[in-house]
Amino acid sequence: MPLLESHPFPGASPVSPVGDPDAVAPVPLTVARGDGIGPEIMDATLRILRAAGARLAIEPIEVGEKVYRRGITSGIEPSAWESLRRTRVLLKAPITTPQGGGYKSLNVTLRKALGLFANVRPCRSLHPFVATRHERMDVVIVRENEEDTYAGIEHRHTDEVVQCLKLITRPGCERICRYAFEYARRNGRRRVTCMTKDNIMKLTDGLFHRVFDEVASEYGRFGIETDHMIIDIGAARLADEPDRFDVIVTPNLYGDIISDIAAEISGSVGLAGSANIGQDVAMFEAIHGSAPDIAGADIANPSGLLMSAVMMLRHVGQPAVADRVHNAWLATIEDGVHTRDIVGSGRTTKVVGTRAFADAVTDRQGNRPKHLRSAEPMSDGGAGNPDATRITPIAVTPRPRARKQLVGVDVFVHHDADRDPAALADQLCRLLPGTVQLKMITNRGVKVWPEGLPETFCTDHWRCRFTATDPKQGIDHDAVVGLLAVLAATGVDFVKTEHLYTFDGQPGYSMGQGE
Ligand code: NAD
Repeated sequence: MPLLESHPFPGASPVSPVGDPDAVAPVPLTVARGDGIGPEIMDATLRILRAAGARLAIEPIEVGEKVYRRGITSGIEPSAWESLRRTRVLLKAPITTPQGGGYKSLNVTLRKALGLFANVRPCRSLHPFVATRHERMDVVIVRENEEDTYAGIEHRHTDEVVQCLKLITRPGCERICRYAFEYARRNGRRRVTCMTKDNIMKLTDGLFHRVFDEVASEYGRFGIETDHMIIDIGAARLADEPDRFDVIVTPNLYGDIISDIAAEISGSVGLAGSANIGQDVAMFEAIHGSAPDIAGADIANPSGLLMSAVMMLRHVGQPAVADRVHNAWLATIEDGVHTRDIVGSGRTTKVVGTRAFADAVTDRQGNRPKHLRSAEPMSDGGAGNPDATRITPIAVTPRPRARKQLVGVDVFVHHDADRDPAALADQLCRLLPGTVQLKMITNRGVKVWPEGLPETFCTDHWRCRFTATDPKQGIDHDAVVGLLAVLAATGVDFVKTEHLYTFDGQPGYSMGQGE
């Protein structure tokens, strides 16, 4: 019988080892068994947790493929939200997102709807028991989880051009940077590295970097070192010398990419767990997918979900159970009892399936690893424990509103006639109101008028920058509306506008390449 149906953690009779510091009432937990290998690895995980004496009152929910197939494009039933609101903690197995058909990613929906702003992925080497080229790797990626290009705001403007908005907010940057530093402090970590591409994206990634520096300045007194790397070289260094890194904090998209790199080079994507942390809701899941190619074959490695469950136990205040499970798992790996995905180190003594692996971990309850670093409560006696993730609420510093002045407008134009920027400029200037002047035209961000280069490749999408004739005076909304009315009257096909503001006198917009 599947474990969830049998309610393996009855609130009335939790297993309660004598003298256990976690001897508390059962903690309500929402569990989603997922798709593909999900049910197998969830059953294995819950069996191990039960044997270790976890006190959990489980509420099963259904999410994923079956829900999508019932025509619910979000992949989650309304009743499941009620459970999440009640328990505020979700242990989730991977799900399958059907291709096409307008289905939305359930993971992105859960992260955003529940405000799970921090994605925490510890990636540790299990050398020499799991093959890896990186013997001492022990890095935690803290990925911003809600913003960036994942806002999902995309548009097609012209025949040739589509766009995706990259949204970065100051509170979003501050929350994730504070979380990363608090995580480092409470987990005894020494360095936090920020990775962005602020040499190119000066406003968006520049804000992330600036806020990181501001928050970092508060943590020097805790002896935490900080640095910043451009994401491209940072990712290359992480792949080559991961032991140089400790905690890495980075915007959403970069974090998505480097956390898979980090998990893969630590040994296997089947090993790593992750936590998605919000102000008062948390979701724990393996980093891998539903592996439909091996579903039902009893060969999947349950370790990723098990390590997520260990993080979950620490999060809900059962650190001693978490340590017991973690140490039994390390001891199993050391004994060479391996699922087939991690065979290859020469240390395998027995290749087992999902169920037998869970049995092996269960049999080792109370064992500790002899070579790998065991999970221990931290010596400061505080919230500290390896991978302690309960660090919320995180306060965001209130800031005064800036003095904002409208100084111009970028009008994006669909123009295909001759792809001659000078002809377009002539057309634009024909009836221009006196309040604004045409400052420049760019194509894919490169200035093509005035004084463009004939070599520059041009598409059918032109950004036409109009600025106030009197910069001190600025313009108002009426001037923008007046400009657009004139452009419409002269047959200009404008497809989008962006206002140009200064904030406390500083431009809130980027210059064109070559401007
Ligand atoms: P995947 O991670 O499911 O599988 C990639 C490869 O790794 C496969 O060969 C698989 O057999 C293997 N693998 C994965 N987990 C394993 C484990 N625990 N033990 C042994 N081998 C394992 O990635 P995919 O094939 O790209 O995606 C399959 C489905 O999973 C897709 O529908 C995708 O949308 C979904 N997905 C879900 C999540 C999630 O729910 N968090 C994350 C990623 C992908």
